[in-house]
Amino acid sequence: MAGLACAQALQAQGIRSLIFEKSRGPSGRMSTRRTDQWQCDHGAQYFTVRDAVFQAEVARWQAAGLAAPWHGNITILPAHSGAGRHTQPVTRYVGVPHMTSPAHALYAGLDHTDQSTVQSIRHDRGQWHITTAEHGLHPAGFDALVLAIPAPQAARLLATQDSPVAGLPAQAVMRGCWTLMLQYVAPVRMDFDAAFVNQGPISWLARNSSKPGRSGQECWVVQASPTWSEAHLGQEAAWVTTQLLEAAALLGLPAPVSSTAHRWRYADTENALSVQFGWDADKALGLCGDWLNGGRVEGAWTSGHALGTQVAAALRRKAAG
Ligand SMILES: Cc1cc2nc3c(=O)[nH]c(=O)nc-3n(C[C@H](O)[C@H](O)[C@H](O)COP(=O)(O)OP(=O)(O)OC[C@H]3O[C@@H](n4cnc5c(N)ncnc54)[C@H](O)[C@@H]3O)c2cc1C
Repeated sequence: MAGLACAQALQAQGIRSLIFEKSRGPSGRMSTRRTDQWQCDHGAQYFTVRDAVFQAEVARWQAAGLAAPWHGNITILPAHSGAGRHTQPVTRYVGVPHMTSPAHALYAGLDHTDQSTVQSIRHDRGQWHITTAEHGLHPAGFDALVLAIPAPQAARLLATQDSPVAGLPAQAVMRGCWTLMLQYVAPVRMDFDAAFVNQGPISWLARNSSKPGRSGQECWVVQASPTWSEAHLGQEAAWVTTQLLEAAALLGLPAPVSSTAHRWRYADTENALSVQFGWDADKALGLCGDWLNGGRVEGAWTSGHALGTQVAAALRRKAAG
């Protein structure tokens, strides 16, 4: 989302960019797992909106049918642990019909090359040169380069760069998240559509089927807490599945007919920085992403949007001599 918002802001200023995406499509951690039978948002569960510019963007997504509020009944478990916390006043949005929908629409309007994992970057005589694992050295040089990837991955690419922003990623500690997608043959009736859980290995569970526009088999998602996930990141998926199913049963969730586990190595940031983005004007090298801007989807979008505006102004100044 950060990279797309950045490219979108550049495009609005008449500047062309090319997105290198390592996966087969966009969305990153705003992801949906899909099969012929079921679908499940297994990354970001919803997003909230506070920034006015992001608000306007989300309004465009809504008007285009790409996002909608999710009016799920959300609780806190165990009930006494939620004292003082309120779950209602905020509007929670989701992509429709999938969490990936806004990103797919943005990506379609931007130049991109997917299945292109950036392996190394080189700055030479005012131009950036990109090498990907799949296609080798890209033939074009670029006036500016933006890294819109999780901090540890940015740190690896910046390891050999002499730049004041090269040290930024090391300041953000990102944490993993074990996620389980549970499938059922019939709707599961609980007292809630989703719950923040303050006890045991699970920190969140939600009825994916309660989100607007979802189709297919009944599906629930279970996410382990950062502490539990970090402690068990190296475990086999089968072992993790057993542990999380036992914990989900204690919360009242019936046994599913099938389940799929997913390990997110860099799900969120323990200490998201609050610098919005990084920018090295000398080398025209930028960094954006949730880890620089408070975390979460809104932080990612606003980080990318602000950096794109900055890069466009810098390139215009350079062109004007
Ligand atoms: C389990 C989970 C639950 C979450 N729940 C919520 C929630 O409820 N609400 C909320 O607001 N946020 C939530 N988040 C966080 C939210 O998903 C992120 O803050 C946001 O999606 C980050 O966007 P981003 O653009 O910064 O990074 P990413 O989404 O990580 O995007 C980075 C992109 O770069 C690509 N990439 C990485 N390395 C390379 C490379 N070397 N070459 C080319 N491409 C590369 C990736 O494939 C990806 O597409 C959750 C995240 C997870 C994992």
